[in-house]
Amino acid sequence: MIKLVYVMGTSHSGSTLLAFLLNSHPEMVSIGETSPSLKRNKDRHLLPCSCGDLIGECKFWNQVFDDVTAQGIPFTPTNWAISFSKTRMMRNLFYRSHANPVKEGLRRAAMPLQASHIKKMRRANILGVEAILKASGKSVFADASKSANRLELLLQIPEFDVRVIWLVRDPRAFVSSLRRRGFDLEGSAERWNKTMKVMERVYDRPPHDNKMILKYEDLCADHKKVMNDVYDFIGLDEFEVPDDYKSPEHHIIGHKSRLNPARPVQNKETWREKLTTEEQEMALRLAGPKAAELGYV
Ligand SMILES: [Zn+2]
Repeated sequence: MIKLVYVMGTSHSGSTLLAFLLNSHPEMVSIGETSPSLKRNKDRHLLPCSCGDLIGECKFWNQVFDDVTAQGIPFTPTNWAISFSKTRMMRNLFYRSHANPVKEGLRRAAMPLQASHIKKMRRANILGVEAILKASGKSVFADASKSANRLELLLQIPEFDVRVIWLVRDPRAFVSSLRRRGFDLEGSAERWNKTMKVMERVYDRPPHDNKMILKYEDLCADHKKVMNDVYDFIGLDEFEVPDDYKSPEHHIIGHKSRLNPARPVQNKETWREKLTTEEQEMALRLAGPKAAELGYV
């Protein structure tokens, strides 16, 4: 069995930071998100890896690409073998989780149409993770893709022994980050609510000992101590995260912050200034009961 740690969470929840902290442990490798976005880079060869090289030139990634391709599954920057949804249409039809149970039921009912594709993808993911472990010389793989849907698919692969970390963050921080990117406050708070519902349904699946909820705020308050609790949960030896948590070798893809030098781990809570009291209250109200359950109200 391959030990796989999965970080599930909304966007802007600190998953890139957590990917680096997980990767800093001598026994664990994280590559961040397993489906690199093509939004900014039309040519994925030119996507920068966190190591400083372009992904098409990074030695680590090329070793992984060659290893998987040699086993019969083409893996290149443009043919990303470990991503379940290859096209936008495929993602919308089969791989997008819905908060609405009727829509979600319809999506699930259509999944058998994808049976042969999923079988192929399971093998691609096993080979991909094995190649990443081999190239890194580590024994535990951490996937910080965040998506609940991907987690659900990975939980169905018997070769993976999955540990789930549900990374959560105050909905007021989420809506403040989204507003900075042009989204309205109401829609963003409702999106947080819906996404949490979808994630909760998947989080219910693994056994109790194989999952934990990690609050971004707690992580930032004492990241060295919290990471040791996380390593213990995964079954790894105690380890002190270095002050420069980006000093161990890394090849992480995902948020652009992967390219910056390590910043001190701290929760700045800029939403407290960016949102008025009324806006903060509205965000919490629309975020639904999970916000209160997690102690944000
Ligand atoms: Zn690299």
